[in-house]
Amino acid sequence: MVQFDTSWTLFLDRDGVINEREEGGYISKVEDFSFIPGTIKALEKLSTIFGRIVIVTNQAGIGKGIMTEKQLDKVHKHMLKTIDLLDGRIDKIYYCPDKPEANSPNRKPETGMAMQAKADFPEIEFSRSVIVGDSVSDMEFGARLGMVKVFIEGKGEDPSVVKPDFQFTSLKEFTAAL
Ligand SMILES: [Mg+2]
Repeated sequence: MVQFDTSWTLFLDRDGVINEREEGGYISKVEDFSFIPGTIKALEKLSTIFGRIVIVTNQAGIGKGIMTEKQLDKVHKHMLKTIDLLDGRIDKIYYCPDKPEANSPNRKPETGMAMQAKADFPEIEFSRSVIVGDSVSDMEFGARLGMVKVFIEGKGEDPSVVKPDFQFTSLKEFTAAL
């Protein structure tokens, strides 16, 4: 495992890494949001290791008209409040509301959300960044930016095409390996 310190940034995918995925759907209500067991505790430790922790999440449900930005905002406020109460830290959430057909420069695997993070936190270096995600598109996003790629199994996607650097079953397990 790489020796991380506060000069490193952690990019986290949301669905399937922090919270349980909603099969074929979108989480538009706080009641539908549930943390994956062990995640909050993991974030507490990760907060002491990494200088910056940001979330990068595709939320095409907005572009498709299935949920509103206001609903997503409520879900995120709840998530951040819970993490904060338990001594974890997320510096900022970036989300892409665009549907796949929009060819948005922000939708992973495109790198727009990383550029937004770099604009907000100029100290971020992509070569000293880690992406943790459960989709091939997350690994592709990290590959384009030269990040360390950590694949979380569970969604059933085959990551071998993008060769993750590390593979774990959960954020909890990744954190335990640090
Ligand atoms: Mg995901």
